[in-house]
Amino acid sequence: MTDETHPSGLSRRSLIAGLAAAPALTMAATPAAAQMKSTEDEEAQARAALKDAKGTKLVILGSGAGPVPGRTRRMTSHVMVSNGAAYVVDCGLGVTNQYARTGIPFGALKSIFITHHHADHNIEYGPLLIVGWIQGMPLSVRAFGPPPLKQMTDDFLRAYKTTVDFWAEDFKMKPLVSLEVKEVSGAGPVMQDENVKVSSIVVQHPPVTPALAYRFDFKDRSIAFSGDTAPLDAVATMAKGADVLVHEAMFVPAVETYIKGQIARGRPVKLEDFMAHMKADHTPVEDVGRIAQKAGVKTLVLSHLTPAIDKLTDDKWRAAAATTFKGDIVVAHDLTVL
Ligand SMILES: [Zn+2]
Ligand SMILES: [Zn+2]
Repeated sequence: MTDETHPSGLSRRSLIAGLAAAPALTMAATPAAAQMKSTEDEEAQARAALKDAKGTKLVILGSGAGPVPGRTRRMTSHVMVSNGAAYVVDCGLGVTNQYARTGIPFGALKSIFITHHHADHNIEYGPLLIVGWIQGMPLSVRAFGPPPLKQMTDDFLRAYKTTVDFWAEDFKMKPLVSLEVKEVSGAGPVMQDENVKVSSIVVQHPPVTPALAYRFDFKDRSIAFSGDTAPLDAVATMAKGADVLVHEAMFVPAVETYIKGQIARGRPVKLEDFMAHMKADHTPVEDVGRIAQKAGVKTLVLSHLTPAIDKLTDDKWRAAAATTFKGDIVVAHDLTVL
């Protein structure tokens, strides 16, 4: 990641570093055994929910915001399963392990979608391809996302050619040398297959252009993803009448409290500048509710949570969204199945 400077004058690296510190503290407060148990539980629950599933299912693989490793909530990724085919949306760090933990076979993986090229959404795209291939992912897998996804795919596979070739030789596998990539730059239809019709819109996530939101219309269910964005009516229009809207969400008072604490400890940022950056790029949870209400979705899933800290309880997130949204509200956790 480059240390670009935001128009506010704040370095992006310092913004990201700021959001990184808090989760480590809350993790340390959780006994290791309890942590382990809940990890096993979430996996068993997800597998049980998927085992006898009728119709299309969505699994949240990672529900945290930002490129921060080592916390309870992993980076952003999702998988949907419909008619035995799997569709991945975003590939933050952890996507491959989390996918495996659902019990969905890699042989089912049909398409991968990237919303935008921030590390918390794309950093494990290449590893998912290679480990997935070794584990039985078909060579016909397709990828969709903003440019330069084609070049990124080709460069990655070139970088790992030796690794791929060793396995191909050893296990008599057809090597993964390339895959079909469709770059998506704007609004409109993205793809259609026997299970799903996918469309996109461009959202507001400066300086990232384009950043995309996607809508998946399966035969039995419609699922929309906001991607990372400032509050946008276009997301409500895209998600109109969908069964599920997965929307990024920011809890503004908690972000403020956190950054004030950092400033008190000598961090050289201005509260106004930091919050201006966050508001230009992300959506306060109350606005998420308003957008979901306007869209008339049945279920709102709050995910890509900022800040992704355990002490912000589900009740707090839900109550904030419920001030503006009257439907079902789900606070995403890793391996939540809907
Ligand atoms: Zn993000
Ligand atoms: Zn982003």
